[in-house]
Amino acid sequence: MLLKTFKGGVHPNDCKRFTKDFAIEEMPAPPTMIFPIIQHIGAPSEIVVKKGDYVKVGQLIAKQTGFVSANHHSSVSGTVKSIEAHFHPNGSMVDSIIIENDGKYDVFEDVKPAKPLEQLTDKEIVQIVSDAGIVGMGGASFPTHVKLVPPEGTRIDYVIINCAECEPYLTSDYRAMLEDGDDIIFGCKAIMKALSAPKCLIVVEDNKKDAARHLENLLKDEENISVVVVKTKYPQGSEKHIIFSATGRKVPSGKLPADVGVFVANTDTAASIARAVKTGMPLISRIVTVTGGAIKNKKNLRVRIGTPIRNVIEAAGGFVAEPERIILGGPMMGKGVFSIDLPVIKGTSAILAMTKEDLGINVVTNCTRCGKCVQACPMRLVPVTLAMHSKNENEEMLKKYHVTDCIECGACSYICPARKDPLQMIRVGKRYVIDRARMKKAQ
Ligand code: SF4
Ligand code: SF4
Repeated sequence: MLLKTFKGGVHPNDCKRFTKDFAIEEMPAPPTMIFPIIQHIGAPSEIVVKKGDYVKVGQLIAKQTGFVSANHHSSVSGTVKSIEAHFHPNGSMVDSIIIENDGKYDVFEDVKPAKPLEQLTDKEIVQIVSDAGIVGMGGASFPTHVKLVPPEGTRIDYVIINCAECEPYLTSDYRAMLEDGDDIIFGCKAIMKALSAPKCLIVVEDNKKDAARHLENLLKDEENISVVVVKTKYPQGSEKHIIFSATGRKVPSGKLPADVGVFVANTDTAASIARAVKTGMPLISRIVTVTGGAIKNKKNLRVRIGTPIRNVIEAAGGFVAEPERIILGGPMMGKGVFSIDLPVIKGTSAILAMTKEDLGINVVTNCTRCGKCVQACPMRLVPVTLAMHSKNENEEMLKKYHVTDCIECGACSYICPARKDPLQMIRVGKRYVIDRARMKKAQ
């Protein structure tokens, strides 16, 4: 049988074998925790604690400012040591709350289960998700409560739970499917209820068939939630591509999934919604895959948000080789970081410590106009041309060739035999066009 998929894309070695069979381990939190006020897309949150305050697990420490923003909570109990600008995974300095963990894990008194799901209204579910500070945990970190309130008159036909996990090396969603299946399904039901959506599709790539079968077993009495197995191909987990593969619907340029009647949430996002409804505990932890040739004991860890990356690497046995590059997230779309004294935030799906051998030899040669990047681009763009116009800051041509449609998947850079890395230039061009549009609007 032909598996559902999309045009374009690439087939990198998935490298999931290093961690896929390791069950999720609970990582103890270290003595010092760092909570930046930016862990989401949207307005930075406002700090609501001060130096010397005692806080408990699940207590609000930074509140959302405006609708497109997110709450953040302490993941430990202890004392606010300071409020200071701290290095952030995005490469800048961001105001952060530093908390000294007392190791007691006293839970905040307001953390209580909600009513049973059947008794909750759509608005109450959205409020729970908003209060719990839940954001997209696949890396994008868009506040989930915003997506749960589509524009007036929008009908959502399908909720898609994105369990594709198409990035090489990552296995956190795979382990969540095997170990947190009940929570994922509960999360599906909560989302369907909030959106009055009749159907939910849990979409899994065919390199995780055992996880798909496990979910199918759990779903045998459910009529409206089903598992869809799609072809293993990168970037199958991109929102637009998973929607096309699972439903055949195309999200047009400049439009959102809701415009074609679809809502997409990540695996761990669905499970976090379940926990918030069932226990009242906000989003205070996430599963992080710690892998790469430089890591001694590769693992899947449940890590409390705010834990410094250095401590997570130590919990995985530290380094066995000099890391050439440390990446937060997958090797295709993740971000390289210059320091390990940064915190795990809500979008940190993995810590990859890559050796020279992992990265391969990168001798850059001239572009041979082979066209492989064009064939690989899942957005039907012309990466080689976009890279050239980006270099020349040619706004008109960048717009003509739809630079803002680039989803920054990196398939073009991965496939390029000349190791040209067109994405690096395209990112610059995309930012240039977006900034110019903003400047013109402000004038
Ligand atoms: S141009 Fe953008 S969307 Fe196309 S392959 Fe490159 S990174 Fe992906
Ligand atoms: S950028 Fe790379 S993949 Fe694209 S045409 Fe040139 S050599 Fe080929």
